[in-house]
Amino acid sequence: MTSRAQTEYRYEKLTWPEINDAIDLGKVCVLPVGSVEQHGPHLPLDVDIVCPQGVAYGVGKKITDKVLILPPYWYGYCGHVMDFPGTMNGHYEHFIQSVLDIVKSLAYHGFKKIILLNGHGSNMPNLDLVARRGNLETDAECVLLAWWQLLSVEKDFHKKWRESKFPGGCAHACELETSLYLYLDGDNVRKDKIKSGDVSFNLENSPFMYVDLMGHGPAALTSWTSSYSDTGVLGAAELATAEKGKIVYDEAVKQLSTFITWFKDRPKDQRQDMHRKTPTMPIPWGQTPLEPTAKKKANVGGNTNGNGKKPHDKPAKVKQKGS
Ligand SMILES: [Zn+2]
Repeated sequence: MTSRAQTEYRYEKLTWPEINDAIDLGKVCVLPVGSVEQHGPHLPLDVDIVCPQGVAYGVGKKITDKVLILPPYWYGYCGHVMDFPGTMNGHYEHFIQSVLDIVKSLAYHGFKKIILLNGHGSNMPNLDLVARRGNLETDAECVLLAWWQLLSVEKDFHKKWRESKFPGGCAHACELETSLYLYLDGDNVRKDKIKSGDVSFNLENSPFMYVDLMGHGPAALTSWTSSYSDTGVLGAAELATAEKGKIVYDEAVKQLSTFITWFKDRPKDQRQDMHRKTPTMPIPWGQTPLEPTAKKKANVGGNTNGNGKKPHDKPAKVKQKGS
């Protein structure tokens, strides 16, 4: 096959026949999801787009034949940030529905591996639901991860760049976000306005209630940003450098490329019907029905499914089309 689908990683630059080729290649789709949100006096409103899209494009350049990067989803869930001018809030129901619409469109066309690459903390609980629903309401697999989580795959990676205290040095418009933005789009950083800031409740040193991108306390009090910050900067922005930005960029691109390469051809785990009596109505909630071939495993009793296979046996590796 000679197709642009092999050499282009930007979804929107393909034609519809080339999308058919990309589906034959089993390409993994990556949707960067961000927000238009205040990031203090020194960073523009598009930080949560620029960061995941930058990482995604890095991955696209590295493993072009395996991925398609979708145009980013710009407007995330920011209800708690509306005291800061410029922030846009997508109602959580609209946000969940419209990201899910993208997942369902991809799955319908034939893309069966989808990654939501998040760039905005408060999108996480909403996108978790999108990914779960994508898995239950389509026949695709949908994975959620935030770009900064890729920095914790290698246990000691943070020692290579982080200087700020934990918790609190990296939360928002912080050492991490400012560094990556300096690396990806440094001309748009107001360098004369970089000033660190604290999450005020972090200063109370409660073992229960603290936040940081790399880990938080067990008690979450997620309320108005303006109630715990005067500037919208939550972390050690003054410790940020473009050099640190390059270190974290390279790591995120490396880890996401490794994950996608593994995930792309991984056979999907199979459902089983555990009912003794077949349910007498279709499954509600828009969830996908069981394949008839998956039925009646409970009838045989015990731990086997009738083929002599235990329920947790891995399915045979299936050779995927185009690989
Ligand atoms: Zn951010």
